[in-house]
Amino acid sequence: MGFNEITYTIDSDGKIVSTSLEWDEFAKQNHAPSLCKGAVHGQSIFDFFESREVRDIYRSLLERVCRDRRTIQIPFRCDSPTERRFYNLTIAPPVDGVINMTVSHVQTKERDYCSLLDVTIDREGDLISVCSWCKKFHITNDWVEAEEAVGRLNLFSSAATPRITHSICEDCMESMSELL
Ligand SMILES: [Zn+2]
Repeated sequence: MGFNEITYTIDSDGKIVSTSLEWDEFAKQNHAPSLCKGAVHGQSIFDFFESREVRDIYRSLLERVCRDRRTIQIPFRCDSPTERRFYNLTIAPPVDGVINMTVSHVQTKERDYCSLLDVTIDREGDLISVCSWCKKFHITNDWVEAEEAVGRLNLFSSAATPRITHSICEDCMESMSELL
């Protein structure tokens, strides 16, 4: 399950002004009731990024859109344990101080259940990086798909699923640099 399109608007400080109905649907599907709209209106989108690196890139992207008054589109993945979900984020220049953000579904590919992507399971021990954009995991100097990461980490036989932190891989950094 995913969604076709979510739109939301933010002001120039990144505060969420409005969210579409699909926003709530998606938050519920992904075990994040705390992100339903009543709770997020007035909050800064930057508070949702636990990684400073990721937050700074989004800040720069927004500044770029406002400065150049040019719409930009950023492909990203929003995977679930059983699906690879491909999306585009479109950021439009502000109208009356309000920036329109549109997240559009591109395609979904089914996958076998992958524990590494399951937000409902307990995690402990090691901290591994996942790219916020392409959802590849940083394992032994490579950025690899979740399935390969599970193999490399030997998670089939190990009880503990590692904790995850968000970052950006070299390939996505290169794509972002072209937009900035
Ligand atoms: Zn990446």
